[in-house]
Amino acid sequence: MYDVIILGSGPAGLTAALYTARANKKTLVLGGDRLGGQTAGIAVLENYPGWAGSGMELAEFMKNQATTFGAEVEFVSATNISGDAENGFVVKCDNGKEYSGKTVIVATGASPRKLDIEGAREFMGRGVSYCATCDGFFYSGRTVIVMGGGNSALNDALYLADLAKTVKIVYRKSEFFRAEAVLRERVAQRENIECLFNTDLVKIAAKPDSEDGELIATTTDGTEIVTDGIFVAIGHEANTDFLTEDIKRDAMGRLAPDALPAGMFVAGDVHSDIKMQIATAVGTGCTAGMDAVAFLNKMQ
Ligand SMILES: Cc1cc2nc3c(=O)[nH]c(=O)nc-3n(C[C@H](O)[C@H](O)[C@H](O)COP(=O)(O)OP(=O)(O)OC[C@H]3O[C@@H](n4cnc5c(N)ncnc54)[C@H](O)[C@@H]3O)c2cc1C
Repeated sequence: MYDVIILGSGPAGLTAALYTARANKKTLVLGGDRLGGQTAGIAVLENYPGWAGSGMELAEFMKNQATTFGAEVEFVSATNISGDAENGFVVKCDNGKEYSGKTVIVATGASPRKLDIEGAREFMGRGVSYCATCDGFFYSGRTVIVMGGGNSALNDALYLADLAKTVKIVYRKSEFFRAEAVLRERVAQRENIECLFNTDLVKIAAKPDSEDGELIATTTDGTEIVTDGIFVAIGHEANTDFLTEDIKRDAMGRLAPDALPAGMFVAGDVHSDIKMQIATAVGTGCTAGMDAVAFLNKMQ
């Protein structure tokens, strides 16, 4: 029986693990499918205080810091949680194993919202991508579309502008209201980024007879854009499907701490009440870790 089972190996989960392991609580991190969560896709971090490297380097460092104090890390995903703090929580995982813990910290972050238009699913991995840093290289010297208008979309567009010949940002609103000013300015300065406002994509299809796998993206007004790739950055949804339905979530699937059963805590992007950033993930990871330690000490 672990004292603490932490779901997620992003900055929230790894920070929580550092605090619980360093307080001598037997800690297991179930790290999902990959270390670092969303940070794994960040090439250079500019706004996490004290760190100027990549997101992945930060995640490696955080993991090593937590394991130094005894935290165990396994890369499996939770599929179900049952039980309670009194008798122990049981976390079932996709590797068929079950793990028992006196407390659980949910730090499972968020995943990109999937595009739900004709052709989006069909061309996923064949022109449609949700990760510019993973797939951008394949579009060197080519033409790509970025869908969305928040920080992620503008970051993706800037990253792709260093590789692709032309980047077209398709955004349904009239301005990038939700993006940081520094990103808006950088986008405006790039000659190979074109912004198409007040428009959206409604269909993706293969360009007939194209030898290079080009796509045709049709917009709301019927315009057909020929493109090599479409990068989708239209928001995120919290990873909370594995929780039972009685646990309340907001419209994004996120969790409020006071809606959770005793002994269960939440941290990071999956927390309903924070801005989704690494700094806040670390802050709430620290709080959740300390709350779990206090809870365990009271149980004794
Ligand atoms: C492209 C991009 C660029 C960004 N740039 C910045 C930036 O410059 N600065 C900044 O501060 N923030 C940035 N962010 C946001 C930042 O990455 C997130 O706010 C932060 O990673 C949230 O941390 P987290 O630990 O809550 O979740 P995540 O990083 O999403 O980690 C979640 C973890 O949970 C795991 N998991 C999921 N489901 C399960 C399950 N069922 N069981 C077990 N584990 C599970 C995942 O595998 C992952 O390890 C960016 C995000 C993206 C996508």
